[in-house]
Amino acid sequence: MVKGLGQLLRGAASRLPARLLRPFGRPVALLFHGVEARIVDARVQTNHHDLAGFSDIVKFLKGNFDVLPLSALKEVLRHPARHRRSIFLMSDDGYANNLTEAAGILADFALPWTLFVSTHHIDSGRRNPAFLARLFFLFAPDEHYVIPHLGPLELGPPASRAQAAARGIARLKALDAARADEAVATMEAVLAEGDLAALLERFRSDAFLTWPQVAALARRGVEIGAHAHFHWPMHGGQTKDYLIRQARLPRARIEAEIGPCRYFAYPFGNTPDIGRAAWQAVRDAGYDYGFTTLSGSLDAGINPWLMPRYGLRFREPRLASLVPALRAGNPRLRAWQRQMRD
Ligand SMILES: [Zn+2]
Repeated sequence: MVKGLGQLLRGAASRLPARLLRPFGRPVALLFHGVEARIVDARVQTNHHDLAGFSDIVKFLKGNFDVLPLSALKEVLRHPARHRRSIFLMSDDGYANNLTEAAGILADFALPWTLFVSTHHIDSGRRNPAFLARLFFLFAPDEHYVIPHLGPLELGPPASRAQAAARGIARLKALDAARADEAVATMEAVLAEGDLAALLERFRSDAFLTWPQVAALARRGVEIGAHAHFHWPMHGGQTKDYLIRQARLPRARIEAEIGPCRYFAYPFGNTPDIGRAAWQAVRDAGYDYGFTTLSGSLDAGINPWLMPRYGLRFREPRLASLVPALRAGNPRLRAWQRQMRD
């Protein structure tokens, strides 16, 4: 059986020297979330690079690729083969440490980047619901709980908690937003009887930027895009009204506080997190492009509101081979986009 180019590249990325893969390279989008000086609990701070690891990645990108602003994307898509080393760097959510940690390093290396903010969380300072749920599963006292829409659950010894968190958060994400909200509010109420304030302080890594801080980043040249209003999936289980609000509201908030908002990134951003009505709402809200977290390279044949991005791991020792091999994700991306056609 003849292997597809994608399969060959995927296998090759782990074996071949980067210089052999380089001719296959195409423009890609890379994603990070937060950056912390020190990670105190990796089970909780799942979204944050440590400073040293992030610096290594940034240095490597600067030395080996052309990192471009998103305003260049339209031109790059006209001639992807001429942009084998072009990268668009992005950050999701809008953590305060983007200003205190990431922005300085990226400025030192003169790398342009885009920050996608979930505007409800910038407005209110309320933490990401998945983060609050993680605190509950990891730190709520050993007990039997009844959480609305998740049913009864038993929290036991510390060793079992990480798995309980992964399972519980996956179930939460599948719920519609109103039900998920009720469930998370119940978890938060449990934590509030104990040391919620201390936990929030201990994990300041997950605090959001304020609008003046987002504006400070914009003044430093960071492009500000929308990451929905609530940081919650936009799958087919959500109502159409909810999805329309998730697309429209953040653009209106960013345009009121900062300036033009042309780009969108879906919360979580994988296939179970994005429904057909979601990308249509993003298109209809007037964004030029929307970004998922499916792997692939950027080309003109892709639905502009379902563009691929690769989420950077905390250590990326093989980035030189990995970036050209991301193109291997395109057949899967295209197959999914065909199912999502309107
Ligand atoms: Zn996010």
